[in-house]
Amino acid sequence: MATMRDPLRPLLGKRSADALEKSLGIGTVGELLRHYPRRYAKRGELTDIAGLELGEHATVLARVEHVTRKPMRARKGHILEVVITDGHRRLNCAFFGNQAWRERELRPGRTGLFAGKVNAFRNTLQLANPEYELLDPEGDELSTMDSFLAEIIPVYPAAAGVQSWTIGKCVRQVLDLLDPQEDPLPGQLRERHRLADLDAALRGIHRPDSWEALDAARARLKWDEAMAVQLIFAQRRYSTVSRPAPACPPREGGIGDAFDARLPFDLTGGQREVGDRIAADLAGEHPMNRLLQGEVGSGKTVVALRAMLQAVDAGRQAAMLAPTEVLAAQHARSLRELLGDLAMAGELGGAENATRVALLTGSMPAKERKQALLDAASGAAGIVVGTHALIQEHVTFADLALVVVDEQHRFGVEQRDALRSRAAEGKSPHVLVMTATPIPRTVAMTVYGDLETSSLRELPAGRSPISTTVVPVAEKPAWLERVWQRLVEEAGKGHQAYVVCPRIGDEPPADKSDRRPAVAVLDLAPQLAEGPLAGLRVGVLHGRLPSDEKDSVMRAFAAGELDVLVATTVIEVGVNVPNATAMVIMDADRFGVSQLHQLRGRVGRGQVPGLCLLVTEALDGTSTRARLSAVESTLDGFELSRLDLELRREGDVLGAAQSGKRSGLKLLSLLEDEDVIARARTVAQQIVESDPRLTDHPGLAHLVSEVIDDESAEYLAKA
Ligand code: ADP
Ligand code: MG
Repeated sequence: MATMRDPLRPLLGKRSADALEKSLGIGTVGELLRHYPRRYAKRGELTDIAGLELGEHATVLARVEHVTRKPMRARKGHILEVVITDGHRRLNCAFFGNQAWRERELRPGRTGLFAGKVNAFRNTLQLANPEYELLDPEGDELSTMDSFLAEIIPVYPAAAGVQSWTIGKCVRQVLDLLDPQEDPLPGQLRERHRLADLDAALRGIHRPDSWEALDAARARLKWDEAMAVQLIFAQRRYSTVSRPAPACPPREGGIGDAFDARLPFDLTGGQREVGDRIAADLAGEHPMNRLLQGEVGSGKTVVALRAMLQAVDAGRQAAMLAPTEVLAAQHARSLRELLGDLAMAGELGGAENATRVALLTGSMPAKERKQALLDAASGAAGIVVGTHALIQEHVTFADLALVVVDEQHRFGVEQRDALRSRAAEGKSPHVLVMTATPIPRTVAMTVYGDLETSSLRELPAGRSPISTTVVPVAEKPAWLERVWQRLVEEAGKGHQAYVVCPRIGDEPPADKSDRRPAVAVLDLAPQLAEGPLAGLRVGVLHGRLPSDEKDSVMRAFAAGELDVLVATTVIEVGVNVPNATAMVIMDADRFGVSQLHQLRGRVGRGQVPGLCLLVTEALDGTSTRARLSAVESTLDGFELSRLDLELRREGDVLGAAQSGKRSGLKLLSLLEDEDVIARARTVAQQIVESDPRLTDHPGLAHLVSEVIDDESAEYLAKA
């Protein structure tokens, strides 16, 4: 008999155990049993080939359509070309060498599981060096096929060294030897939420005897994942929120009221509502930890400023952190503009109640910098703006009460943590994190589970629409010509355009990758200037230009002295040129959905509608292409973030978003399981309130460690 902690070797033998360890990092019974099938094939139903991802190791249930034997040119022997189908689309498989038995085996009409790396050859999808297991065995093959009778065939995440069917056999062997599992979830909880017990769930997920049994197993194991994550967050929230914070009750007739009275516009409903929540949080004795999401231009800065003024009204200070010096300088400028004479304390013409906005960047002259540091230390500056590193390392505050972090997606997690000790008297400041990349509620609850979230969904001023079109150059090479013509036409109308490339082009060549290097700024710009865009004024912008050169290119583009700016994603944030109406994104498939959305937000900022062209070689029918079609189909950032989640099939949001490591979220779908996540959150919250360290719930404490591996746990505990 075996337990979850036992090593696999004695159970499976050296060969299988080593293969699992080497290819998938699976060493124990528990790790193998938590390696759930990715999906299930139904005997007699073929896998949809559409949606395969180039480069992935895929396993498909398909039928052999036809087989051709061709002599190889360079060597002796043959290539066996086998075309398999799901009934609609085809996939080519090539087998090398003289293998007459394969030809006898792979006859048209037979079905089986085929596994291999997906790649493209002459614009058709193919599986390279596939392995297969036929599912309609004949004669003596029958006896070797132990999955033959099962109607539901588990398909495991596999790798080149271990195929899905091999994993399935190992799992079956182990399940037969496994002791009945004790359940870490209290029976009462299982009953209330109608959850299957763990032992049944583990068996049911690997060897379901019906679809209903599979559903019940999945529901239970999903709950474990949701519960583990939410327990960690609940513990984190508990420990953060139980610290003292500098209370900032609003003050009537203070700088906040003076600012509201002179706002040149009405706040949107969303700004008002979020503002009220924040105001209430800041007045409290415990730290606020809030994530504010809203697209570029949704008016987050105003919301943040009103919060900062509440800190100033309480006689304390606020800091605003930006990811780059340029953005910090921009923030300081726009805060001073918004405040007018309210930011001119101690200066001629300064208003009653006025404060000062200090800017701190590494490149500012020593004298100015010294003054800014003095203003922060004395409290004369109610608001201090700077880059994260600078504020964290060099600034002393008189009484820091609120930290606003802008553009969260550019900040590391540890950085947020380091802020917590900065308030006076051992208190933790309130923290407001702002992001322009909208994330769905479930992701917020999972990735930013320790933060409360608020969203600004409406944009204040009427923006011009942006129309987006995918340009599939693999299928329609002539369209690229048309793209450049469009830019010439835009320039003819006096408008400007961006051409965005994934790469600068001065990097050393990447070693052996089977992918073509992405289009580079330094290659494309001269080609365009001498070719299709000859006669237009073409400029170049990327992150490795000296900063004065960057400034002068940006200024020239803003002044209309350049028609086309060929750039990297440096233009993603903070660039505002209303006369730019078109954007071409080269190798658009190399960018994420949210990033594409963010990028195209640079056009359509003026009176004229914007145009965004997504140039790609991704083939129709791949999920990469589906992502681009999603960007084409909607302008709603929240909808896009949802679609992105849906399309990132292997995506592991918890890992991918921040730690880059694999986490224990295997079944839980952040898209579909909002209900499970929300219920687990409530239950976790209740449990942690009465038992913060889970000492009375050892089963749950163990569940956390089992579902969330050490590195993720460490990350989550720090996040
Ligand atoms: P974000 O920081 O979310 O990108 P900003 O706060 O910079 O957005 O706002 C974008 C622009 O809209 C700014 O010029 C700002 O002054 C203006 N703005 C903000 N709120 C409103 C509003 N309620 N009505 C009209 N204009 C607004
Ligand atoms: Mg902003």
